[in-house]
Amino acid sequence: MLTGAALFVADLVRALTVEHEIDFVRASSYRDCRSTGEVRIPASVQTDLTGRHILIVEDIVDTGRTMCRLLEHLKDARAASVAICTLLDKPSRRCEPVNVHFCGFTIDDHYVYGYGLDLNGRYRGLPHIAYVPRN
Ligand code: 5GP
Repeated sequence: MLTGAALFVADLVRALTVEHEIDFVRASSYRDCRSTGEVRIPASVQTDLTGRHILIVEDIVDTGRTMCRLLEHLKDARAASVAICTLLDKPSRRCEPVNVHFCGFTIDDHYVYGYGLDLNGRYRGLPHIAYVPRN
């Protein structure tokens, strides 16, 4: 999932021992640190997914709307299986049920940035993950 998961994907695939191919989907719902609730998929995968095992790699699952929208989008792809891997999970914010198969870290309800995640388009290159403290 672009763009936030790009750095995580780069590290993850270098640790994978199974053969795999990489493709990217762009989904967007956040503007100015707030979820708009409306999820768009302006760019989808180019690979034929028929009969393939798909691992969706996400930076963070928050309300779950993006993941639900993507799963719906992939429904007609006739994949053999679909699993979800996320670096971060914010379960306290969930609006839509999402079955996360692999989760790096479960976090509290903070807006986080760094290591691929942005703060208004910036700081994706930080080597660590930071958060915006709540007032
Ligand atoms: P959801 O649809 O689950 O609410 O949001 C998923 C997407 O919103 C993520 O892929 C990510 O792009 C963005 N997002 C959610 N929470 C955060 C956050 O704390 N920081 C950043 N940078 N993006 C977030």
